[in-house]
Amino acid sequence: MDYYKLADLLFPHIKKTTEEIEAQYPKRNLPEGAKVTRLGPSPTGFIHLGNLYGAFVDERLAHQSGGVFYLRIEDTDDKRYVEGAVETIINSLRFFDINFDEGAGLDGESGDYGCYTQSQRGEIYQCFAKKLVAEGKAYPCFLTEEEITEIRAGQEASKANPGIYGIYAKNRELSMEEIEANLAAGKSYVIRLRSGGTPEATDENVRKIKVEDAIRGTLEMPENFQDVVILKATGIPTYHFAHVVDDHLMRTTHVVRGAEWLPSLPIHVELFEKLGWEPPVYCHTAQLMKLDEEGNKRKLSKRKDPELSLDYYRNQGYHPAAVREYLLTILNSNFEEWRMEHPEADIDEFAFTTEKMSNSGALFDLNKLNDISKDVLLRIPACELYEFLKDWAQEFKPEILHIFEDREYLERILDLGRNDNKPRKDLIYAQQIVEFISYFFDDMFKIEDEMPAEVPAEDITAILAGYLENYNHADDQSQWFDKIRTMAAEMGYAAKPKDFKKHPEEYKGHVGHVSTVIRIALMGRAQSPDVWEIQQILGEERTRARIANYK
Ligand code: GLU
Repeated sequence: MDYYKLADLLFPHIKKTTEEIEAQYPKRNLPEGAKVTRLGPSPTGFIHLGNLYGAFVDERLAHQSGGVFYLRIEDTDDKRYVEGAVETIINSLRFFDINFDEGAGLDGESGDYGCYTQSQRGEIYQCFAKKLVAEGKAYPCFLTEEEITEIRAGQEASKANPGIYGIYAKNRELSMEEIEANLAAGKSYVIRLRSGGTPEATDENVRKIKVEDAIRGTLEMPENFQDVVILKATGIPTYHFAHVVDDHLMRTTHVVRGAEWLPSLPIHVELFEKLGWEPPVYCHTAQLMKLDEEGNKRKLSKRKDPELSLDYYRNQGYHPAAVREYLLTILNSNFEEWRMEHPEADIDEFAFTTEKMSNSGALFDLNKLNDISKDVLLRIPACELYEFLKDWAQEFKPEILHIFEDREYLERILDLGRNDNKPRKDLIYAQQIVEFISYFFDDMFKIEDEMPAEVPAEDITAILAGYLENYNHADDQSQWFDKIRTMAAEMGYAAKPKDFKKHPEEYKGHVGHVSTVIRIALMGRAQSPDVWEIQQILGEERTRARIANYK
């Protein structure tokens, strides 16, 4: 068979040579050891935690080594294209401080290794497919859907491996005349790889390939023997072929992708080999898992787990620094230790490595994220938090924008108890923060908790009246509390809780119950940061009004 003639017959419109294309993608001019990584999302419009997780690895590997991180849009499956998806990808990741150096962008592409949208690279893929055909390494296959279904049924019946390979690859050895006749008859066809693998190999004599995965170490897998499709009938490449061609040409050094691609790795290895190229270093990340209510590990699911969507973190108002910090704790097992040793250090100073990544399933836990967020927010000054919350409210809660009018007031609220020796860790994410501080604003203030049962209704009125009468906004914290203590004692409440505990029969309750009455009148809540400090922030007028207005 004259494969060159076949290649020209199938691709008469492809005049460029692969050498010409290769010349357009020269070796990158980067320092020794610099890594080139890419994110290759399908533009489905849904960007999830898994994408962020992978992108984070890509970003760190590239930017830690002085390399390049680029965005390639993998839209060969046109059914899945959603308008505006590229913007969603870029903006969602940018929010988490993950920025691309080149590739698809908001105002078109940037970089010398484009184009970065697979649907526009048709000629390139066809050029390499033509080369494989010319070398006898790929062939046209005219099998119809029905024929393939029949083959599959036969394979099921005889318990053979499914797929098109060996004796089932019925178009592998078509003659030129047969091919010409099929083409003349207008039959549609795909291009398949002519795999060099041995389909009949047994477990004992199967040839194994070895791949050094940067996360998983040495992988030993049976070689590929499937004549996989590389170009679909439409001339569009499959993921397998597009990945290999693009990552070679774009000079990707590290391919970070989910573990779901592991089974097709032998195909990619064979494709690189057939094309005569060096494969990149593969980094197959672990699946994101969570513990369900019964304590079992399961994959995060789009349907059941709202936290899988990145929008969730933006809606809730998680600070991007908190999410980054959290991701690193699940990405690298030594991160938490490093953080303890370097509590103030910039997160980018941590040396991220693929070797410290788990390969068995990364456990995602919202409670842990919340804990980390508390610490991260503590390191963010109130003036920055103010800006962050305001940006968030503008997008997600415009009805509370008035709380940003008095900047000093809000910053004092945010700083409440944060500068103490043992700082309070009340702030987690915007939605929660707004709720947590709502009592500082008259329009959101409401009585949420019950008055303590120890204090009868007439005492409540008396406590609040007495408090108001003696209130002096200039009192320092101990003067202020002494007054409460005195009032409590006068009314038959123990001045110290421990006295009440010893002799409960002698008192109505203790000073804590009395101050809870005041707390609830002021804040509507039985639990809150320090009352005296809160009053100082509320100011005299508002403090007096709250006490006077309690009903
Ligand atoms: N387009 C592929 C996906 O959506 C990307 C896989 C890869 O990064 O190679 O999962």
